[in-house]
Amino acid sequence: MKRLWLALSILLISSTMGWTKEGPLHIVATQTIFADLVKKIGGDHVNVSAVASPKYNIHFIQPKPSDVRKVAEADLYVNAGLDLEAWSDPLLEAAGRPELFRNGKSNLDLSQDIRLLKVPDYPLSRAEGDMHIFGNPHFQMNPENAKIMAGHILTKLEEVDPDNKAYYEQNAKVFLDQLDQKIKEWKDLCAHCRGEEIISYHDDIIYLADFLNLKAEEFLEPKPGIPPTPRHLQFLEEYVQKNKVKAIVLPTYYSRKEADKLAQKIGAKVVTICQSIGEVAGTEDVFGFYDYNIRHLSEALR
Ligand SMILES: [Zn+2]
Repeated sequence: MKRLWLALSILLISSTMGWTKEGPLHIVATQTIFADLVKKIGGDHVNVSAVASPKYNIHFIQPKPSDVRKVAEADLYVNAGLDLEAWSDPLLEAAGRPELFRNGKSNLDLSQDIRLLKVPDYPLSRAEGDMHIFGNPHFQMNPENAKIMAGHILTKLEEVDPDNKAYYEQNAKVFLDQLDQKIKEWKDLCAHCRGEEIISYHDDIIYLADFLNLKAEEFLEPKPGIPPTPRHLQFLEEYVQKNKVKAIVLPTYYSRKEADKLAQKIGAKVVTICQSIGEVAGTEDVFGFYDYNIRHLSEALR
């Protein structure tokens, strides 16, 4: 009799485990900013990690074997789509879960519905050194785009985990209300930036420039991904003087040598503009990230 009870209890426990999803969802994001957005909406019901360290250029990350293991066990994979994270497809292939692949049902591509800038009107080729062949993929830099991304994260979490729909909706509402408020503050903080021109190292600033109505048309790189050449730097020297450029901006992982040299010639400032959450102290979440970048631009352009 005792044995029969034991067998029945084991059967009951294992069938319950099969019915109910236990614990938080396991989510892997390519970048820290996406991971933070997932956390803002998913709260206690998600366990999220980012593959790329914010200390390195997002185009050139080398995932580790531990990343492959994490992706292999993930319920959802959140990424920038396009060609920003060129290492992402090989990582997914190594993890071997087709539903997480590009266009798979557990792959959340955050570029959907984003108004892409600089979409080429003729075919570009990576073989010829082009980096942004589908349009500029650095869209996370505009806080307005964080609203669109948060909306897609909410829809996906509700799809994967419908039992907690109300919880995700409440978190999204709190986040979006706060973001709307901050967007107003950031626009005010940099109202004087309107129409000013900046030079960026890489073409990764244009979505933030668009948000603040800044002009950002010339870059230290002659072409995205191609390091500055003496000839191009000579052109820029004349350009910045003629156009009264006040700031040269770049994230922490590029060499500051050329930017400093150019800035000195015209008395401009060199400003760190982060591309990821956690790149420098004070950028620990999505609000701190945008706040840091906009505050520093505002100060440099006074
Ligand atoms: Zn790029």
